[in-house]
Amino acid sequence: MWAGADQTRIADILADVLAQMLLPEFVYVRLFDRHEGPDTEAFRLVAGDGATLKHAIRGSADAWFRHETRLGSHSLTCSIDGRGLSVIALDLGTRGEFGFVFVGSGRPEFPTSAERLLVSVAASQALIAVQQHWLLQEQKDVATRLDGLVAQRSEELETASEALRRSESIMAHAESASLTGSFRWHPVTDTLEWSAQAHRLFGFEADRLITSDDFFDRVDPDDHGQLREAGAKASLDPIDLDLTFTVMPPGQEPRVLRLVAHPGTHVTEQGAYIGTMQDITERVRAESASRVAEARMRELRDELSHANRLATLGQFSAAISHDVRQPLSSVSANAMAGLNWLNASAPNLDSARRALERIVTGVKRAADILDRVKSFSRRNSPCISVDLNDLVSDTVALVDADARRRRILLSTDLAGDLPALQADRVQIQQVLMNLIVNALDAFDESSLDARKVNVPTWLDAEEIGVEVRDTGPGLSAMAIPRLFEAFNTTKAAGLGMGLSICRDIVADHHGRIWTDANEPSGAVFGFSFPTTERVE
Ligand code: ADP
Repeated sequence: MWAGADQTRIADILADVLAQMLLPEFVYVRLFDRHEGPDTEAFRLVAGDGATLKHAIRGSADAWFRHETRLGSHSLTCSIDGRGLSVIALDLGTRGEFGFVFVGSGRPEFPTSAERLLVSVAASQALIAVQQHWLLQEQKDVATRLDGLVAQRSEELETASEALRRSESIMAHAESASLTGSFRWHPVTDTLEWSAQAHRLFGFEADRLITSDDFFDRVDPDDHGQLREAGAKASLDPIDLDLTFTVMPPGQEPRVLRLVAHPGTHVTEQGAYIGTMQDITERVRAESASRVAEARMRELRDELSHANRLATLGQFSAAISHDVRQPLSSVSANAMAGLNWLNASAPNLDSARRALERIVTGVKRAADILDRVKSFSRRNSPCISVDLNDLVSDTVALVDADARRRRILLSTDLAGDLPALQADRVQIQQVLMNLIVNALDAFDESSLDARKVNVPTWLDAEEIGVEVRDTGPGLSAMAIPRLFEAFNTTKAAGLGMGLSICRDIVADHHGRIWTDANEPSGAVFGFSFPTTERVE
């Protein structure tokens, strides 16, 4: 009877059942709304003015329902429409949360226990129906909410898919513009996912499933070793990959690719590598062309400066020979004359002596000319207070870029509290620069791994000094005796003047210059000045 009924129907059925079985003056059923909407009411009245009576019954029922001590089932007497009626009042639900039933009768024996039992049985059946109704409504609400959520999610999903499609298309454009393909690789399962551009770089058709065998088929066999080794390492530990290799797509020019990959960080990428492969063929070509051009430029520059030096030297020699020829020819003429005077049957010793004296004068003049030439080659600046450590730092800074280009580690070890040196700063720097450049040059012929030049300064009781220590091939025992002589060189573009000029400059400053072997290999060149007697 109750099944599937809504609240109005349940209230009606309950009111009808009670009215028919108990024949009371009135039955009043009130059911509450689930969501605090309007209540559902059912009245069954035997006689009287419907509206006034209903109003009176409703008032009594409200008074009862609001009473704090009410709960459960009650028999009470109410004055309704001027008559005292016996009433059964019954809550629906343990706290009346579903509504209540109000049944009144003028019969003196009302309510008998059987009548009370009847009301409570009918009410509890109605309560079950109401509860079922509420449950059904709840399920409908949940279903509606779910429908709403599903619709909302579908919409979000559609928006996300649209965004994904857009970013995929941007990505595809970016990939093709930058000649970069992207991929995902899982080293444990050895599965590969490639973008369309990655397929293109290898000359594969766009949707082909790529295996690692396919990959290696197209890679230059010379590069297999490094790729397999990196792959094996990457499958053991998460590492960053940065590899360059050549790929040979059939019917196309080989391409140089740079592969960069990192272990995935997202939970869905655990253990997988995400990376890119970029076509750097053009860049590699351009770099090697510029390297060749740079080397050629260097060669030309060296050749030019050598030619310059030779030309200068030629002019220089011409000037010297011009100036020296005159005293030399006078020396030679006087020597001949002297010999003649001595070889005569009666040797003329006075004339021979005068010839010898002229020879001495001629030789002195030649020596003066040479001294003038020498001082011209070393223009003197005034002696000033020089901080040797500053001088070393400045000079090292000048050649540091050159050292790095030659992959040589150039370092200093500066002693503390060095006294200032009174010297020609330009000339001392010329000495140091020459020694450092020689040390760097020493590595040109060498394939040694340790390529280091260290420049320490030092101070002891008598001297303040600096050394240039290299780990190059060192000096042969045969070379050492002539090392500081002019025109002694082993370099194709060398003049062999550097060390001889260094020696003169250091001597002018009352210092000393020396060389020694470095341990375990290489050469040491050093120079020092007395601390007591400063050069003025
Ligand atoms: P140049 O540098 O023009 O050859 P130098 O007088 O400066 O003239 O050097 C003479 C020679 O001494 C060099 O050609 C080289 O053979 C040798 N030499 C100089 N310094 C070193 C060094 N640190 N290691 C090995 N050889 C050196």
